[in-house]
Order: sequence, then structure tokens, then C-alpha cells
Amino acid sequence: MLNILVTGGAGYIGSHTSLRLLEAGHNIVVLDNLYSGHRWAVSEEVAFYEGDIQDKQLVADIIDKHEIEAVVHFAGHIVVPESVADPAKYYQNNVVGSLDLIETCIQKDVKHFIFSSSAAVYGIPSTATVDETVTLEPINPYGKSKLMTEWTLQDLGFAAGDDFEFVALRYFNVAGAHSSGTLGQATPEATHLIKVACEAACGKRNGMSIFGTDYDTPDGTCIRDYIHVEDLAEAHLDALDYLFEGGKSTIVNCGYGRGFSVKDVVKTVKEVSGSDFSVTMESRRAGDPPQLIADNSKIKKMFNWQSRFDDLETICRSAYEWEKSRG
Ligand code: UDP
Repeated sequence: MLNILVTGGAGYIGSHTSLRLLEAGHNIVVLDNLYSGHRWAVSEEVAFYEGDIQDKQLVADIIDKHEIEAVVHFAGHIVVPESVADPAKYYQNNVVGSLDLIETCIQKDVKHFIFSSSAAVYGIPSTATVDETVTLEPINPYGKSKLMTEWTLQDLGFAAGDDFEFVALRYFNVAGAHSSGTLGQATPEATHLIKVACEAACGKRNGMSIFGTDYDTPDGTCIRDYIHVEDLAEAHLDALDYLFEGGKSTIVNCGYGRGFSVKDVVKTVKEVSGSDFSVTMESRRAGDPPQLIADNSKIKKMFNWQSRFDDLETICRSAYEWEKSRG
């Protein structure tokens, strides 16, 4: 059993991972400023701090009080188009915030750190699937903010020597909801495709748009590697096991290794919901790469990570059921 600080534990991926950490018998403490997270998404039994990762004193006090041994860092902004419109928000919160947090961890002798990175660090890959070694050329401020944080971890980790090891998990497109029906994506004004399509299917918005139908892909729409949030949560437990067994700092992709187009997703959400919501074809959205699919050999080999929900219909159905249940 470990004492783990989860930043952003009231958010979408953070809350699913926190639940899984609790199930695995760990002691967790959540720090979340509730900017996009929800208090209800964190179990009552968990010590909860409403605050910011940039509040170094608060973070240091939490580490002391709860004898924190590892930090799992989710807190951050995640919307690509917003990052294009307001890059300073992303550099402030994602880059400066992470730097503050990492520095505090190292100062307070927390040796193990898991970071939510993103496939957005790859930009527009030249290969069909991307492994962790390809050149990193993010094309939007969100992706750049994640890459800068990876560099921060590498450089501060190097300077700290054996006293600090991290795993950066590069998430591909995370979607779906918890099988228990108790957790799911609850972001207001959502922009992510599966969430938007499910809202349209539930009549919470008047249809939806497909951004860009002239990409160089089989049906002209962008292709993404959608991963179920519970499989992603499991990757964090595997990463912690790896570090506590003496593993060295590393970066791994989290995806299934296959892609679906925007049109595939819309069709699947229509099928699972039985709703023929209206879909408008629009021009491309700024900052979107045509295709992003993980080469996931590293995570499978290194962490023995196994997926349980690798099925677009399962992902869309769980997201739709969650959306419907929220009224
Ligand atoms: N997308 C879309 N309509 C929407 C939301 C997203 O056509 O209402 C497209 C978007 O342009 C991109 C893909 O769906 O090609 C995935 O976008 P999302 O925002 O879900 O994730 P991202 O890959 O940007 O992190």
C-alpha cells in the first residue's frame, strides 16, 4: 500500500484512476482546484484538498502530512482549440504549474512521479503509427505544453540523479465511462468528439459538426486511436508498479494501436444510441493532425499492460449510457 497524491483527481481521467488506486488498496489524497473537476467524482473517504498545484506551500504540507511516496499528476488544461486561442493559459497552468509541482516533489524527496502526457507531442507523424522514438513536433500549444513538461521532468530528474524517477504516459484519445455507471466525462462545454456526439444523441445539443472532410485519409476525416478510460487508468497502476520495482524514468504511449475516423465514431454513436442526430460538415479545425495512432508495443512489453475494452462500440456505448444517466 502506497501513499499517493493525485493532482486533478476530481477530473475525468483522474477520478477513474483514483478509484482504481483505491480498489488496489492504496491510500490516496486528491488535490484539485475544481476548475474542470467535480467534488462528487472523488470518494468521500479520500482526503481532498481544493487548491492549486502552483501553491508550493500547500503541496509541501500535503506531502509532509500524508507521507506521500508518489505523485500522479493529471491537473491540466486539455482542449486543443482553446490552447490555440489562449496559449498563455496552457503555458501558465500546464508548464509553469507542472514545474512548480515537480520542483516541490524533488525538494520534499518524493521519488516517484507519473505524468499525463499526450499524443499531441507528436504533431503530424510521418508514419502510420507512432512509437516513442519519433521526432516530436507538436503543432498546437497544448501539445507543446505537454512536451515542455516532459523535458522538465527529464532535466530535473537528471539533476536529481537516483532520487527521482518518472513515467510520462502519452495518452491517445481517451473516451468512455466507468462500467459501474458512477463516473464519466462531465466537463461542461465539452469539445471532445465522443462526448459531443453522445450529447447530440441525448438531445443535449442540436446536432454536431464534423471538422474537416478533405484530409488525406480514406473517408477524408481525421483518424484517432480511442482508448477506454478504464484501460488508461490501469496503465497508471502498471506504471507505479514499474517505478516501485526499481524501474528507471521512461515515456510510453497509451493507445490500442488502431484508428477510427470521425465518421466511424459518429456512425457508432448513432448505432448504440438509436438516435439519428443531425451532423453538419464544416471546415478544418485549427491544430488538428490528420492521423494519430499509437504503436503500443512498449507499454505492453515494459508494463505487461493489457487492455479490456478495446472496442469502439463498447467505448461509445459506455459514454452514451453515462451521458443519458446524467439527465
Ligand atoms: N471533432 C469533430 N467534431 C467535434 C469534435 C471533434 O469533428 O465536435 C474532430 C476533431 O476535429 C478531431 C477529432 O474529432 O479531428 C478528435 O478531436 P477531439 O477534440 O476529440 O480530440 P483531440 O484529438 O483534438 O485531442
